[in-house]
Amino acid sequence: MKPIISVQDLKKKYGKFEAVKGITFEVYEGEIFGLLGPNGAGKSTTLEIIETLRDKSSGKIIVDGHDLDTDAEKIKKIIGVQLQAAGFYPGLNLLELIELFCGLYNTKIDAYELLEMVNLKDKAKNKFKEMSGGQKQRFSIATTLINKPKIIFLDEPTTGLDPQARRNLWDLIQNIRTEGTTVIITTHYMDEAEYLCERVAIMDEGKIIAIESPDKLIDDLVASGFERPKVTKSANLEDVFIQLTGKDFREE
Ligand code: ADP
Ligand code: MG
Repeated sequence: MKPIISVQDLKKKYGKFEAVKGITFEVYEGEIFGLLGPNGAGKSTTLEIIETLRDKSSGKIIVDGHDLDTDAEKIKKIIGVQLQAAGFYPGLNLLELIELFCGLYNTKIDAYELLEMVNLKDKAKNKFKEMSGGQKQRFSIATTLINKPKIIFLDEPTTGLDPQARRNLWDLIQNIRTEGTTVIITTHYMDEAEYLCERVAIMDEGKIIAIESPDKLIDDLVASGFERPKVTKSANLEDVFIQLTGKDFREE
């Protein structure tokens, strides 16, 4: 496993408050890496520092061989960062928005091919504001790919989406990884992390308290004697919802 991101003893203070308290971890090339933890744990702060969008207080960060302290510009060129939906001009259509991004990155891309990848080809001429929540999220993930990054950062990409839109996004994120891009994702949905992530780091109050594959974390918990209250039904309400409203990946 070759590390593509290496974080050493990262600390971040906002005034007197230490939001990140000396964390150390690596992300391997080609994996989907999850950063989990309750609100306020320090996940977004950590991501934004690696994305070069926020200053750190101390620590060392290497991204694909580039030191953040001396080569932030080189790091910017090889990463894709998801904008919050509010960052898009609502009145432009998808083709116009892609063109805008190509200008910003000083690159060219086949816009239809990109839209095809996120299943939005037939919405190319639709305005951003006319799309559903899931479509907006798929589009914003597409825009992270415009500069053909080695690594993309997704901060809670599925928050607020309905079950099918969430599954659509899982499919997309797996496809992006299959193309060779490393993915770092935060999520509050543990089923999502279990489904998508090779490894997860669990953060709490600015510290990493576990880092492992979901499978190993679950096995360790079971080995410690943990037992779930007995499951009495072999389906849950989400299964009902998906059965009633259509197949897993139905188009919105
Ligand atoms: P998470 O993404 O895990 O919810 P954040 O990284 O957003 O956590 O926040 C970690 C802590 O840092 C929280 O207590 C939050 O209130 C605080 N924090 C985040 N951004 C700022 C800021 N710009 N100024 C002051 N405190 C901040
Ligand atoms: Mg956050």
